[in-house]
Amino acid sequence: MEKGFNVCCGYVTNAADSLPNFETVDPNKGDLGICLNCGALLVYIDGKRNITQLAGRQDIELLNSAQRKYIGRAQRYVRARGLIKNRSNS
Ligand SMILES: [Zn+2]
Repeated sequence: MEKGFNVCCGYVTNAADSLPNFETVDPNKGDLGICLNCGALLVYIDGKRNITQLAGRQDIELLNSAQRKYIGRAQRYVRARGLIKNRSNS
């Protein structure tokens, strides 16, 4: 996976872990993920080049209840922890 900037907040990322087993993976087009900086729900357009866009309702509707629970829990953790300062302009 190439280094990229998340569209939500500019957080620099070059890795992804899958849920629920936390293995490091190369995401595929259409996979969902959350930004580890701000918790935004993202969908991969190109996993190898690390290009994402904000997830839409149609992406969220594909999740089952267990996946929604994992994502909600991860978003609450990220947002309670607060922002990480690795933006390229700081
Ligand atoms: Zn973000």
